Amino acid sequence: MRIVLLGAPGSGKGTQSQRLMQQEHIPQISTGDLLRAAVAGGTELGRKAREAMDGGRLVADELVLGLIRERLAEPDTRRGFILDGFPRNLAQAQALDRLLATLRQPLDAVVQLEVDYGELVRRISGRRTCADCGRVFNVSTASAEVSQSAPCAQSGAPHRLIQRPDDNEATVTERLRVYEEQTRPLIEFYRARGLLRVIDAEGRVEEVTQRLEQALHASAGRRAARTAAASSRKPRSPGRSTPSRKGASRRTTSSASGSKRKPSVRTTRTPDKNEPARRAPGKTRTGSRRSARRERP
Ligand code: AMP
Repeated sequence: MRIVLLGAPGSGKGTQSQRLMQQEHIPQISTGDLLRAAVAGGTELGRKAREAMDGGRLVADELVLGLIRERLAEPDTRRGFILDGFPRNLAQAQALDRLLATLRQPLDAVVQLEVDYGELVRRISGRRTCADCGRVFNVSTASAEVSQSAPCAQSGAPHRLIQRPDDNEATVTERLRVYEEQTRPLIEFYRARGLLRVIDAEGRVEEVTQRLEQALHASAGRRAARTAAASSRKPRSPGRSTPSRKGASRRTTSSASGSKRKPSVRTTRTPDKNEPARRAPGKTRTGSRRSARRERP
């Protein structure tokens, strides 16, 4: 599958991408990780990107698009990929469309991870990374102490936790503002293309993964139904039947949530006029988180 995970910083895109990568055996492509590697490596691109990253702003489109073009040319992406943190504005989304059309690899699904604003700030402020193995912890969760007490897989010693330079309070506010202004419009962009699914990304990491899988399976079901419908319109050889997948996507989409507050998986393909708001009452307008709480047992 070719998937885009959309969501604000702190919405869990990184965490969920990594879990999905293990389950689906397709690579996670995180532009944030690629850019941080360039900064750490002291490359020219890294030097150009650093200032914007430290200030919580977006790095110039041409730099990020160059990274994505290179990465999508690698053979491990043939079976699919998960884009995490890209695209982040309309120009990037349009460039991605063109690139994938050239590669004849259109997107299968775009999943928006919705998280309350206050929760995003809490997650980002508590996020720490082990300087040796790269594991991400959240010092604000009860399970953090337990996770951290396990030795580092890289050094064998206790984890050396550091805070990302752009996870400080001032930068977080700017990153969330940039998300609202530049990235949130992509929700409509992908909704209009019939690719968007929205999931509640609060709660336990495992629960969110389940909702994500339901959303992706619903998309796959819809695709299969479309293919079956298309092939049933074509003349077929006698005696050959195409199994009907009608209703598959609807069944998966309306699956149980684990949360009574709001549905866990929502398709936005056919907006429901009785449900104009995309979030539960009391929710703020910012949705999603990155890799907070990655290490919950
Ligand atoms: P992330 O790890 O996805 O939160 O990204 C960290 C920082 O890298 C962002 O705040 C941006 O400065 C930069 N960045 C990551 N992805 C992109 C992108 N697609 N376009 C522009 N800047 C990006």
